[in-house]
Amino acid sequence: MRKIRFALHWQILIALVMGVLYGVFFRDYVPYISWMGDVFIRALKMIIIPLILSSIISGVTNIGSAENLGRLGLKTILYYVMTSTLAILVGLALVNIIQPGVGADLGFHKEVGALDVIEDSFGQTLIKIIPVNIFEALSSARMLSVIFFAIVFGFFITRSGRKTRHFLTDFFNSVFEVMMKITMFIIRFAPFGVFGIVAYQISESEDLSVLAQTMGVYMITVFAGLAFHALITLPLIAKFIGKVNPLKHFRAVTTPLLTAFSTSSSSATLPLTMQAVGNKAGVSNKISSFTLPLGATINMDGTALYECVAAIFIAQAYGVDLGFGEQVIVVFTALLASIGAAGIPMAGLVMITVVLSAVGLPLEGVGLILAVDRILDMFRTATNVWSDSCGAVVIAKSEGEALNV
Ligand code: ASP
Repeated sequence: MRKIRFALHWQILIALVMGVLYGVFFRDYVPYISWMGDVFIRALKMIIIPLILSSIISGVTNIGSAENLGRLGLKTILYYVMTSTLAILVGLALVNIIQPGVGADLGFHKEVGALDVIEDSFGQTLIKIIPVNIFEALSSARMLSVIFFAIVFGFFITRSGRKTRHFLTDFFNSVFEVMMKITMFIIRFAPFGVFGIVAYQISESEDLSVLAQTMGVYMITVFAGLAFHALITLPLIAKFIGKVNPLKHFRAVTTPLLTAFSTSSSSATLPLTMQAVGNKAGVSNKISSFTLPLGATINMDGTALYECVAAIFIAQAYGVDLGFGEQVIVVFTALLASIGAAGIPMAGLVMITVVLSAVGLPLEGVGLILAVDRILDMFRTATNVWSDSCGAVVIAKSEGEALNV
């Protein structure tokens, strides 16, 4: 008998649909299957820190010289800032044209619980990237600090004596190889994980029809912006700057995109993104292990766009007219908020306080957008991961690599 085998991304897609149906029709039985989602997410989280650490250290040792590292680092960061800014500008244009907040129903308020307010200044945030205790940074998953330490550590491996250099380079390459093997193993369970996560989310969500009615235009504005950025801007960049086939690249990264969509976490998706960009798109370990962890941490185009749309939506709903100067501040702070947002579910919602306080809008405005945030989060996370993966191929191409896409 012939065995029928579906590609993994089809399995995940089917699991996603089944998860929705299960969540709608068997709400009471969701606890019996939601553990699958927990197990999957925990397994992914288990490998994130050792994966980031080993991948960046091995990536940096492979990059070699300070000159190459500086060039690649600068190029990557500039590229990420550029795409995030483009995303914000799309959001800015749409929210000003559609004006979803004008006349929005302010009665639809939710109490906002203790919301973290980000108080650090830009300078302080930069200084805090240097960890005072690397183990604390590792255990509390402070990604930027971990990345910083890994880059420094990797760099000084290349400056060490021959014996140390060879030993540590081999060692971290080996750790990275094992982490990727574990990743491949966990990925096989993605359909089960996605099924559990989606069924749980659906069973927990509020009445979608009510939300859609009240918040419909706002959601459409965010969706339209994300769609424009993901389907037009990024493919054009991939095609004309990266000289890769965006459709082929999209096929290579479908599994991480669907996982990002279901988990709403670019950090949790990182192992899958690295696997797809490395093995399927053909980006070298040197580039992918440097650009992707950095991307999952600072490059969030979807979040950036969302921060801008949400802040201006809140201003419109409160009847505050933001002038040109204030809109420029929104663009700038939305960029910073997206860089600072962690790659975890609803991080963007917390970061919106940065943008609101910068232009003096009431923080309670967050209550207005709270209810629909989880759905928007799925789409913006998928956009974030799509942008990271496009970044990796564009940068790999610019470094003269031959890819499969
Ligand atoms: N959930 C997003 C991510 O992990 C961050 C956000 O909330 O916007 O990429």
